[in-house]
Amino acid sequence: MDIRLHNTLTREKQVFLPQNPQRVTMYVCGPTVYSYAHIGNARPPVAFDLLFRLLRLKYGAEHVVYAANITDVDDKIIAAAAEAGKPIAEITAHFERIYREDIGALGVIEPTLRPHATEHIDGMIAIISELVAKGHAYPGKDGVLFDVPSMADYGKLSGRNRDEMVAGARVEVDAGKKDPADFALWKAAKPGEPKEARWDSPWGEGRPGWHIECSAMVKAVLGETIDIHGGGLDLIFPHHENEIAQSECAHGKPMARYWLHNGFLSMDSEKMSKSLGNVKLIHELLKHYDGETMRFALMSAHYRQPLDWTESLLNQSKATLDRLYNAMRRIKDVHAANTGAPDGVLNALCDDLNTPLALAELSALATEANKAEPQDWPRFKGLLLAAGSLLGLLQRDPEDWARGDASDADRIDALVAGRVAARKAKDFAEADRIRRDLAAEGIEIMDGPDGSTWRRV
Ligand code: AMP
Ligand code: ZN
Repeated sequence: MDIRLHNTLTREKQVFLPQNPQRVTMYVCGPTVYSYAHIGNARPPVAFDLLFRLLRLKYGAEHVVYAANITDVDDKIIAAAAEAGKPIAEITAHFERIYREDIGALGVIEPTLRPHATEHIDGMIAIISELVAKGHAYPGKDGVLFDVPSMADYGKLSGRNRDEMVAGARVEVDAGKKDPADFALWKAAKPGEPKEARWDSPWGEGRPGWHIECSAMVKAVLGETIDIHGGGLDLIFPHHENEIAQSECAHGKPMARYWLHNGFLSMDSEKMSKSLGNVKLIHELLKHYDGETMRFALMSAHYRQPLDWTESLLNQSKATLDRLYNAMRRIKDVHAANTGAPDGVLNALCDDLNTPLALAELSALATEANKAEPQDWPRFKGLLLAAGSLLGLLQRDPEDWARGDASDADRIDALVAGRVAARKAKDFAEADRIRRDLAAEGIEIMDGPDGSTWRRV
């Protein structure tokens, strides 16, 4: 079955044909790790995780190489470390760990490779040197700049004209800029900047610009031309446009053959972003909702469409998953037949990752499973599990699901034990507070002769 993907570069849906089916390559721009990620930031990892799963199914797990980077050098990181009074590496390691845990809770499997920008400074310097040698870059007052007019087809990804590009580019102050659209490849170190954020280069001490990081990591870990390059819609310009400029002018080859971009997550119809301050952190949400429920909610819209993050979306997602797990619960003791994924779900995903349709197919399958005769149960169980594995859903023990998230159960057990202790100590105010707090989460405590137990109501 063909996989069709919408390519931002050609502005159409195309059949996906890898350069080499034995080594399918995909790169997705990862986070800058200086604070907690919000649920909008989870949209790219979840969307591309789904594509990773689909590619692995089609080409074989060992034939797909997926790299998602970590940006661990950047102005915001330097500022966050200075504010916390901690070394940069401590801040980045801390927030990288939390990021990976958070998206892991959303069922995102580890990419094959996780390159870090700071491990590839030499590769960045090599590309910049090549660009300077070929007349595509020049030393300016504050570092090295890419010479935009030197590239005839600059702007081909975003389709912006020159005036729009100049207006859209964050115009960095650099007296040495030859053209307003030129952008930084290397930034000279400024007085007072920490030692850990400076590297030696032919142009003096400094650090790389953001765009060159990805050009170097893509080349180092995947190659000069890759199959798929992805990220959020906001990265098309300038980030991806500039990655293309750097890589293609340095190597004379296309950087990526299919460019994929996810749409934005909004809240109350406004884009969710740190600068607007209307963010919901994944870390916080996970205290109240199961990661699988959040994954389901993220997949309920097509990845290219906008999605509004609301409580009712989460409640609906949870209710649908409850129904799906109930279907699994009924057949939990039968041995699953080796069916492979159902065609309906597979076809939907092959059509540019049509997740709303895939989820509708999964629900229809659960309805059929609920009506099926026992002799058909192994087949339905096989189909549901295979569809779930492709979508990153339904892999938990259905009894566990019915009882609630296991790690959450530990937390609740501890609170219930705390209440028992408070009552023993005759601290009834504290005991009541715990009962009230749990009731607010929809958890009821039941006191019996053998102690206290709890359930979700
Ligand atoms: P940032 O931390 O802003 O650099 O974003 C990291 C990644 O998350 C990028 O790929 C962005 O495109 C993506 N992103 C940020 N905000 C949103 C949002 N509200 N909806 C979808 N993707 C987003
Ligand atoms: Zn990038």
